[in-house]
Amino acid sequence: MKKQGKRSNRLVLVPGSFQGHLNPMLQLGTILYSQGFSITVAHTKFNSPNPSNHPDFNFLTISYAAYDSELSSGNILALILRLNVNCKALFQECLARLTEKQNSDEEKISCIIYDELMYFSSGGYRDEASEHYLAHGGITAFISRDATVPTSEGNNFLQGLGSKDLVPGFYPLRLKDLPFSKFGSLETMTQVVKELRNTRKSSAIIYNTIDFLEQSSLARTLQQCHLPLFSIGPLHKFAPALSTILFDEDISCMRWLDEQTNDNKIIYVSLGSITQIDENELAEMAWGLANKESPFLWVVRSGSVRGSEWIESLPEGFEEAIGQRGCIVKWAPQKKVLAHAKVGGFWSHCGWNSTMESISEGVPIICRQNSGDQRVNGRYISNVWRVGLEMENELNRREVERVVRRLMVDKEGLEIRQNAKELKEKIQLCVREDGSSYNSLNELVKFIKSL
Ligand code: UDP
Repeated sequence: MKKQGKRSNRLVLVPGSFQGHLNPMLQLGTILYSQGFSITVAHTKFNSPNPSNHPDFNFLTISYAAYDSELSSGNILALILRLNVNCKALFQECLARLTEKQNSDEEKISCIIYDELMYFSSGGYRDEASEHYLAHGGITAFISRDATVPTSEGNNFLQGLGSKDLVPGFYPLRLKDLPFSKFGSLETMTQVVKELRNTRKSSAIIYNTIDFLEQSSLARTLQQCHLPLFSIGPLHKFAPALSTILFDEDISCMRWLDEQTNDNKIIYVSLGSITQIDENELAEMAWGLANKESPFLWVVRSGSVRGSEWIESLPEGFEEAIGQRGCIVKWAPQKKVLAHAKVGGFWSHCGWNSTMESISEGVPIICRQNSGDQRVNGRYISNVWRVGLEMENELNRREVERVVRRLMVDKEGLEIRQNAKELKEKIQLCVREDGSSYNSLNELVKFIKSL
């Protein structure tokens, strides 16, 4: 690991402004720093990473101020479109400032690595640096989303969205699983996908995935896109100590986990950093968890229950019903929780980071997907890797009890647990020396150095 001394090339990283997008980019930055590159992170004001967690990086603020108020309006897709229009020139100014400085530092920008949602970063530094594109999710979600919006050759996916019919060429995805977000209207989503396609001018694509996990999607991508592709996941396994969080972790839940008696019995429940639920869903989740014998650790983010600050709308009698059998926190050290021996299941919204973190620890998943790529991920978890179950019916206490029992008690759950254990072992091989992700990461480093 090269830490000290003169660094040759500077890389500019442009993470997306959400927790699930910041994580993989900062993990990648940490890995590339250890390989001798200098790292500059260009970020929006909104959800900016904490520089003190990354003392080796430089930070540049793209001062787009309208972001905060736009986010609270809830229309994330419209916000992404506006963000990209507004940030293009601001980003160019940032690069110009950096370039001026770099003349004295003698450190040239050799490469810009940007999150796909930050496509304003593309095309600005073309002659001097190459641009790489980090897809924050899996390959299947990425290509199925792109394929949904018609090109000049045309296709019909948009018409059938929502139906249970299989998507031709994307088994086992159904039309209803396609990653067309709930964050905005179909029109806005279509516009975003078109923008992403038009503005994408990168010289390589980096995926936080593993070759064997999405083999057919990888093969299809290799056939269609004549760019170097690097599958270097799960990134958190290459940068395990990194803290990228935007929320305050409540580490008291680790003590609570230690105090539990049996291994593999706790269900960890978390719906990620963006998903919101309503008060009725909170109550049904609560009673569903309380009515089963399985103990649980439940993350309810502040503000994630519509109309409530936190959990004040939990039903009366719930706390007495669960006693010491449940623990609720606002934010947990998720990777540590999933690695804890007492945890035996993860009720997840199936964000890509959560998915990778769970399968890396061999924890089977109850999939309760909400928007975007989560349905694709859930489909792979349940039907391709067979390490989880989808909770597809309406969310009510009986459905929660039923799915929890299937995973934690029934014979079906034993098989899923065994699959999860085997998948974990395969993933471990991929991040070891000579494993596919390990090799791909080395190739990426060589590729960037050759630019
Ligand atoms: N996370 C965490 N503690 C929590 C909940 C989530 O550290 O209590 C982290 C989790 O480990 C993951 C990220 O937040 O890295 C969520 O990303 P994901 O892609 O799963 O979902 P998103 O938040 O983008 O919907």
